[in-house]
Amino acid sequence: METFDILEETGHEQVVFCNNKESGLRCIIAIHDTTLGPALGGTRMWNYKNTEEALKDALRLSKAMTYKSAIAGLNFGGGKAVIIGDAATQKSEMLFRTFGKFIDGMGGRFIAAEDVGTDVKDMEFARMESKYVTGISKAIGGSGDPTPVTAYGVYVGMKACAHERWGSDSLRGRRIAVQGAGQVSRHLCEYLYNEGAEIFITDINEEKTKIILETIKAQSVKPNEIYEIDAEIFSPCALGSVVNDDTLPKFKFEIIAGGANNQLEDEVKHGKIILEKGILYAPDYVINSGGLINVANELEGYRQDRAMKQAEGIYTIVKKVLKTSKVEKIPTNEASKKLAEERLSSVSRIRNIYSGVSAFSGRLGELTRK
Ligand code: NAD
Repeated sequence: METFDILEETGHEQVVFCNNKESGLRCIIAIHDTTLGPALGGTRMWNYKNTEEALKDALRLSKAMTYKSAIAGLNFGGGKAVIIGDAATQKSEMLFRTFGKFIDGMGGRFIAAEDVGTDVKDMEFARMESKYVTGISKAIGGSGDPTPVTAYGVYVGMKACAHERWGSDSLRGRRIAVQGAGQVSRHLCEYLYNEGAEIFITDINEEKTKIILETIKAQSVKPNEIYEIDAEIFSPCALGSVVNDDTLPKFKFEIIAGGANNQLEDEVKHGKIILEKGILYAPDYVINSGGLINVANELEGYRQDRAMKQAEGIYTIVKKVLKTSKVEKIPTNEASKKLAEERLSSVSRIRNIYSGVSAFSGRLGELTRK
């Protein structure tokens, strides 16, 4: 398929290829939609097999960001940068400063943050060359580690599901199976434990589980056992595609609410099965939008209390998604997509009204001068 035909199909506005021999930078910046504002998105560094694979990933991830920002109520568009290279061996100050130069050249249409393969240090190098870079450390005015805000959003989103299912958002005494004992999980488990939930936890790295068990009481289980736990809530906080043909038949869970990205292996097929099984699923990109809310806050002068307050809004958003799914009898992931699209379309209509007014007042000025 021709590149422009692909962009037509995915609805992308712009794709920028950045190449610099001296630093070795090869990067693609994809801007999907700027209806709501400048495109804000992470920077992924990955050993892509070829340009085609990198472009495909940039297009897929940037489009997802449009929906994530829209449903979170943020005034940002969707974008993503992918750097082709090995994050373990090919990083350098020059590489990320060059990346920063390219970002700066885009004049604010794209604002970069970190993602898989990049970290705070990399963003700080990029920030030396452009103000359109977020995800830098708190010490120099950034938002630092996003995980406390992400975890809080997951926690309140889980409570919204509980309210919808049981008429109370209390998690006291609820049995919750948490997959992954990483950063998001650690903060989430603290909230759950303090509220009196019964936690089951697993990680492929036992050391990670041990760290969490030093501060909270939870039952550690083997990674492959987590899907069969007799618990009411499943919270995937490790990796994607964990809700699939193999795992779904094992579920006794009533709710799926976790921080991991891309939890459903097949959005359409598994979204439908979840609905048929009567499980309440908080769409991943809605419930984990605290991380995005955190970096978005950096652009207004970072304050964690404000970011936390905004992340609290995830409760209401999840409720709205669940209600739409119930009323329209559609999977929750389809409901969130619909709500995001409705917001995009109403904001673009408002934009049209304003440009109409300004065009009219300009004309009025001309007429009155005559
Ligand atoms: P992390 O790397 O700190 O933790 C992930 C943990 O999952 C690790 O301890 C890893 O050993 C474990 N793990 C991997 N495969 C596993 C398996 N098969 N079974 C059990 N455990 C397994 O990452 P994190 O920052 O806590 O993020 C967790 C998830 O949330 C990721 O999918 C990430 O993309 C998503 N997310 C994170 C943020 C954020 O703010 N960090 C924001 C949005 C989404």
